[in-house]
Amino acid sequence: MRTPYTYTRRAARTVATIGHDHVPRVVANLSDAAITRMEDLTAIGHVYDPVTDKWAMRDQAAEFLYMGSTPLPFMAPTGTRQLLDADAWAAHSDTFYCVPVFTVDTYTHATARHSVMNVVRCTIDELTSDVVAQLILDTTVVLLLSSTAPSYYTSMRAAIDRVTDAGLTAPIILERDIRSASIDVCVLHASTDLGGLLVDGLGDGTMLQVGTPEHVDLQQSIRLSFTILQATRTRMTKTEYISCPSCGRTLFDLQETTARIRSHTDHLKGVKIGIMGCIVNGPGEMADADYGYVGSGPDRITLYRGQEIVQRNIPSDGAVEALIDIIKSDERWVVPTAPSS
Ligand code: SF4
Repeated sequence: MRTPYTYTRRAARTVATIGHDHVPRVVANLSDAAITRMEDLTAIGHVYDPVTDKWAMRDQAAEFLYMGSTPLPFMAPTGTRQLLDADAWAAHSDTFYCVPVFTVDTYTHATARHSVMNVVRCTIDELTSDVVAQLILDTTVVLLLSSTAPSYYTSMRAAIDRVTDAGLTAPIILERDIRSASIDVCVLHASTDLGGLLVDGLGDGTMLQVGTPEHVDLQQSIRLSFTILQATRTRMTKTEYISCPSCGRTLFDLQETTARIRSHTDHLKGVKIGIMGCIVNGPGEMADADYGYVGSGPDRITLYRGQEIVQRNIPSDGAVEALIDIIKSDERWVVPTAPSS
């Protein structure tokens, strides 16, 4: 029985690299995108270098590419798999590395399925008890699940609880299409809907689309997916900053200092840094940070490792460098790589 007071991830079986103890996967929906060149995949985190003829995968790169019925016109990047609508999958030359995506109807009547992974894309309304009973028997199924109900979050949560209680252990990828004239509206809805479910321990992946009604913004869709995973602590792919809102006690320019610390440390995947305006309340407000940069007097900074003071009241000039030295001494520093375009 799930309780709202502790985090428990829904018990899903592993299918390929999805579910159980795998981090939630990110699926890019490219079914409406015109992907003709390798460079087109830069937006979803895969960078092709024509000189070396190699792909580089960024920390925030989609692992699964949903192509609809049009396969990529070139070989998929290393570390990815194409998801193809069932008819296109059956006609493709590589039916192992490509994965079929069925509707409930095509799944039920399929004459051929993948031996390892079969995606069933459906809405919560299609998950009748008969369909669920059928899916329970298939250990290769991954659900790509969405809801058209007015409240995506509550309807999805109720549906996932219902099918889980019935015995379905298939991994579930949360599909959400939020396109609006305003990116703020997209961020708000995506964060509350997908973030809420992930905090509840529900969801083994996301397939998110944001942008305008006319145009899907692929880059924003992937970035926002990873940001939500990071914020829900289900998948850490970048440095995390915990900063106080600042108030009359703040002892330095919080925004300028935060920007400076970020510029030096934003490549440190998974490291949490607290940046707090004063030593009165700051240490308490950054309780779960790995490192803390806390104002302790005019032009004075106190540096923390966790809740332990490492350097007290040092001059603010050079304090960022001292913070980096602490991270280095913990062997958590990595040399930043040159940004790729
Ligand atoms: S940590 Fe200190 S400076 Fe920052 S908001 Fe709290 S009381 Fe104000």
